[in-house]
Amino acid sequence: MTGKMKGFAMKRIGEVGWIEKDAPYCGPNDAIVRPLALSPCTSDIHTVYEGGIGERYDMILGHEGCGEVVEVGSEVKNFKVGDRVLVAAITPDWNSREAQAGYSMHSGGMLSGWKFSNFKDGVFGEYFHVNDADGNLALIPEGMDYGVACMLSDMLPTGFHAAELADVQFGDIVAVFGIGPVGLMATAAAALKGAGRLIVVDSRPERFEIALNYYGATDAVDFMKAPSEDQIMELTNGEGVDKVIIAGGDQRLFETAMKVLKPGGRIGNVNYLGTGDYINIPRVEWGAGMAHKNIFGGLMPGGRLRLEKLARLIQFGKVDPGHMLTHKFYGFEGVEDALELMRTKPEGLIKPVVYMDKDHTKNVK
Ligand code: NAP
Ligand code: ZN
Repeated sequence: MTGKMKGFAMKRIGEVGWIEKDAPYCGPNDAIVRPLALSPCTSDIHTVYEGGIGERYDMILGHEGCGEVVEVGSEVKNFKVGDRVLVAAITPDWNSREAQAGYSMHSGGMLSGWKFSNFKDGVFGEYFHVNDADGNLALIPEGMDYGVACMLSDMLPTGFHAAELADVQFGDIVAVFGIGPVGLMATAAAALKGAGRLIVVDSRPERFEIALNYYGATDAVDFMKAPSEDQIMELTNGEGVDKVIIAGGDQRLFETAMKVLKPGGRIGNVNYLGTGDYINIPRVEWGAGMAHKNIFGGLMPGGRLRLEKLARLIQFGKVDPGHMLTHKFYGFEGVEDALELMRTKPEGLIKPVVYMDKDHTKNVK
């Protein structure tokens, strides 16, 4: 593409604003996409306001969105101009050695599959660039709302990865700490993977309601009322839980998790620890290092196949991320207010979404 475009950017740590810059260049394996819907993420907040990945100047934010292809490179085989596409937040280089080893999200170095709003401009622009288009795009299924399609960029794949990392098995007692949109999707994933008892820990009533009504939670623990480890041990008659998923809070939750895990238990962490240098693991509860309690932490996997599989879960009614879309904006300018909502997290907010088209009837294909 040539010419200038508008984008909503991180100007430096602690400062955001609208900027103008060159429209992205399309290489032979790439695609340029015009957004149809966008959503800000808690990770954008860690990045801008906590400096979670270090300093960045005039970098367009955002890694959650779906869109329409406006240009494809000469080597792209599976997509053409006009296709409406899902785009994962993580867009690996599929021919890298890390991808060949099964860790595509770290292609090119640790966390380097995370390119949008990290190593290059994100999706909050009039156009955005997708590397390795054949590997990183998938078609939006017919009839899917574009806001729901945005949840396939990050919230659903990250939540589902949390349940994979925790290795949830049939009948497990699972505790999910933090049920923002990621934790809610992790709850849905743990339920689909057969959790027998599914305890969600948070303090926000609207999140409990959605987890219990739509995503398979069986018990709610309010960590503001009493230490969550005490409440979980009481609920389980001192037994503890088989698996813990961490999708919120801070490094102290690793201590809590070790206290409630049974020997042989496993922690699946997808939380982005935006501050602090170290994590304390309590020695005694960790069996002096011999309890077989393990931590698996990961960045979500991307990829076309993965996107298609996760989209199928929505298409055929296994999970509906639409329940999380509490705040809807119409028109590109809404990105600014939507991001601010993620920063202030007012009561009732789960996930904001911005439809690019001001006419909301056009937001389903
Ligand atoms: P969110 O909306 O902030 O949700 C986190 C929830 O955890 C909030 O409801 C929060 O409550 C709650 N919480 C805080 N302290 C807690 C505690 N001690 N025990 C239990 N719950 C607690 O965030 P999100 O958008 O769902 O994202 C979750 C995390 O995943 C973020 O750190 C995000 O950056 C990260 N992430 C990771 C990946 C990945 O690939 N690994 C991808 C996307 C996002 P309050 O709001 O009341 O504090
Ligand atoms: Zn995100």
